[in-house]
Amino acid sequence: MARPQAKVVRPATRRAARYIYAFGAGRKDGRADMKDLLGGKGANLAEMARLGLPVPPGFTISTEVCTYYYANRRSYPPALRAQVAAALARIEKALGRRFGDPDDPLLVSVRSGARASMPGMMDTILNLGLNDRTVQGLIRASGNPRFAYDSYRRFVQMYGDVVLGLKPESKDEEDPFEVALQEKKRARGVTLDTELDADALRELVDEFKALIRMRKGVRFPEDPHAQLWGAIGAVFGSWMNQRAIVYRKLNNIPESWGTAVNVQAMVFGNMGADSGTGVAFTRDPATGENVFYGEFLMNAQGEDVVAGTRTPLPIAALEKENRSAYAELVRIRRTLERHYRDMMDIEFTIQQRKLYMLQCRVGKRTAFAAIRIAVDMVRERLIAHDEALRRVEPEQLSQLLRPIFDAREKERTVKEKRLIARGLNAGPGAASGRVVFNAEDAERRAAAGEPVILVRIETSPEDIGGMNAAQGILTARGGMTSHAALVARQMGKVCVAGCEALLIDYKARAMRITGRGEVVREGDFVSLDGSTGEVFLGQIATTPSEVVRVLIERTLAPARAPVYRLYAQLMKWADQARRLGVRANADQPDQGANALAFGAEGVGLCRTEHMFFGEGKIGPMRETILAGTAEERRAALAKLLPLQRADFAGLFRAMNGRPVTIRTLDPPLHEFLPHDEAGQREVAAALGIPFEHVRERVEALHEFNPMLGFRGCRLGIIHPEITEMQARAIFEAAAEVRQAGIPVEPEIMIPLVGHVKELALQAEVVRRVAEEVMREKGTRLRYLVGTMIEIPRGALTADEIAGVAEFFSFGTNDLTQTTLGVSRDDAARFLRPYVDTFEIYERDPFESIDRGGVGALMRIASEKGRARRPKLKLGICGEHGGDPATVRFCHEIGLDYVSCSPFRVPIARLAAARAALGA
Ligand code: PEP
Ligand code: MG
Repeated sequence: MARPQAKVVRPATRRAARYIYAFGAGRKDGRADMKDLLGGKGANLAEMARLGLPVPPGFTISTEVCTYYYANRRSYPPALRAQVAAALARIEKALGRRFGDPDDPLLVSVRSGARASMPGMMDTILNLGLNDRTVQGLIRASGNPRFAYDSYRRFVQMYGDVVLGLKPESKDEEDPFEVALQEKKRARGVTLDTELDADALRELVDEFKALIRMRKGVRFPEDPHAQLWGAIGAVFGSWMNQRAIVYRKLNNIPESWGTAVNVQAMVFGNMGADSGTGVAFTRDPATGENVFYGEFLMNAQGEDVVAGTRTPLPIAALEKENRSAYAELVRIRRTLERHYRDMMDIEFTIQQRKLYMLQCRVGKRTAFAAIRIAVDMVRERLIAHDEALRRVEPEQLSQLLRPIFDAREKERTVKEKRLIARGLNAGPGAASGRVVFNAEDAERRAAAGEPVILVRIETSPEDIGGMNAAQGILTARGGMTSHAALVARQMGKVCVAGCEALLIDYKARAMRITGRGEVVREGDFVSLDGSTGEVFLGQIATTPSEVVRVLIERTLAPARAPVYRLYAQLMKWADQARRLGVRANADQPDQGANALAFGAEGVGLCRTEHMFFGEGKIGPMRETILAGTAEERRAALAKLLPLQRADFAGLFRAMNGRPVTIRTLDPPLHEFLPHDEAGQREVAAALGIPFEHVRERVEALHEFNPMLGFRGCRLGIIHPEITEMQARAIFEAAAEVRQAGIPVEPEIMIPLVGHVKELALQAEVVRRVAEEVMREKGTRLRYLVGTMIEIPRGALTADEIAGVAEFFSFGTNDLTQTTLGVSRDDAARFLRPYVDTFEIYERDPFESIDRGGVGALMRIASEKGRARRPKLKLGICGEHGGDPATVRFCHEIGLDYVSCSPFRVPIARLAAARAALGA
């Protein structure tokens, strides 16, 4: 009973802050939407308790405590101890067991749980509360000494690793606890962990403790309360461990979020043959198919399933083991999907035939599955179109556009008996690379530009950097929900897991394959088919994705392409939702055709200089540059004119009436000239001019800083005949294509404008030539003249520039270069540490817009431009145009369109839709 004074209402400021939220056994202090405070695991445990699902009682220590912990030199708020004691007492009361009771002890698990799921990144401790005395109580209560000692040795092992820090000390060393366990099995002449008897396990407990004392110089704590606080500290401490930091960086999770800690009454899956544990997804996380998908192990604890030390059974087989638990689980699957309206990932345990739910969260999935589930759930009326769009990250689409193995080559590989093994198809796609056996080597070789396949017995969270660097991941142990499988899917990596035929020797850096003669060594090529689980020796050529085959190659009919059809459905919804237009950067007709197939609505940038590298064009271009007089230059340009005209006509035809933005010559002229003597002699001979002349001209054109030199509109201002020729080629091509009955919409774009007079001079040339051509051809053409905004002065004087320009296109490559004063060609060396180490920029500013600097200039230019010319068309054509975060920004500042490379067009379409939805 509460004492009277408990009813006195105190001012909120004086009440001790609440750090603990209880769940289970009638309590449900939290809710699913309290993830910020309770972390994902804690919030969902509370939600499952609300739904009336069987959740063992426990409590969550909030993320505020984590914040406090790091702000106060790793200490706790003073009120925490009493709150933990009270919460623990409630569990004791609910279960009728006491913590530390030598007769019938309450045991708990202590787990991390951050706001965003970070699978395997932080620490977990199970069976906490066991010591030499309480283990006797557990034996008495369970009547099962083997179970009790098995629980005890697992606890000592986990505690020794997580709290006391006994881990492998080098990359070639195996886990010392595992070594002792293997040794024990060998000594007892058994092969499975389950074959070790109570005696052997008791000995292992002592051996583990001795190992800790010897290697770490500390005693294993026998006091359960000391154990509990040690575990809580370790979990909070694990927020700042190396792998969690790396994971957060890769996944853009802010450090400030912190983790919660969940303390929960233990239930045991290893209490005998009528107990078990498993993990499941409410749908297939690889394909998205609407089937119950998961795996379980009888007589095991959760770690066995996730770590992959034993290979689990498919969930459907549970029906045979325990019909009622299976039926209940199937009911829960439905309840959770209807409640969360999403595919859920669950963990459960069966203790002596009774089912308990230990966790649920929104399940990670491949891009294929994300799209399928989103589309299916709309059809099942669980979610609306908009929600489906929110569920698919734009970058996930790139997985659909990934290659698969060339079918014939794969067939041949099989015939040649190079299919060496099969594992689980844990991460779809096809990858070939050189074998490496540890994460460090994977990172090193990948950094040197080699494709690598990371091969491990099983991966652990420490391998995250190497997994990220590898083309594919291959493991010998572990199921679909093992660490390797989960993380690979999330990263969009090709992964084959649980390939048990592999006999891996880390020290020898080699592996053998059961039943085969050859040895695969570090550096050898292997190929993985992550969609089938096959492993091949050697390299295999790849073919494009289903979407690419339907849209680009046209070698597959949509009716035979289910993945393509899902993609097309989602894209249709995206197009209905977005406001931003999406164009592509394309220089050739075939690129334009690809862009159209991917849904582009025009060309946002055609870099005319790219056309000069085509066959037969570099010669006349060089003549143009080497010309001594304007007359000579005109003669050379006359040769280029028909070539350019044909190129433009091809692009206009391909784009069939959609706007095509063509930019006049932009790069420094010396880029077109050979810089070595042999090359110069060749040019001189081809042009029939003296070698000295060529050399002198190349030297004369030399610039110390060509990016800020004689390039962009400066070329056309000093040599207007170049712009004249290009304008003529554009308008003649437009007239020709129009005469063939195809509509055209040219937009002529002047690069690198900083002063309105620069644009005015060039616009005058373009308009004059347009009039000439239209007069000559007896036709009228609609066209626009605009400019790139790519240097700060252009952005700052955008109102003046908009007096002449009919459109702006932000050239954010140069705008980033000139705003940051960072050379786009030389930045790699320091920009990576700028982002990764020093966090000066959140992301590479050449990849994703620097909102504060470059973004601010874009905003100013848009506002000033539109103030002067309200109908001013605004777009972006820098590389940033295909980056989802930038697309969102462009939506926010009111651009009309983004333009990106053809293969990113689908990503930009989805990103634009999500921006419009505020997703
Ligand atoms: C830009 O600068 O953003 C741009 C698109 O032009 P380029 O990359 O050709 O300089
Ligand atoms: Mg540029």
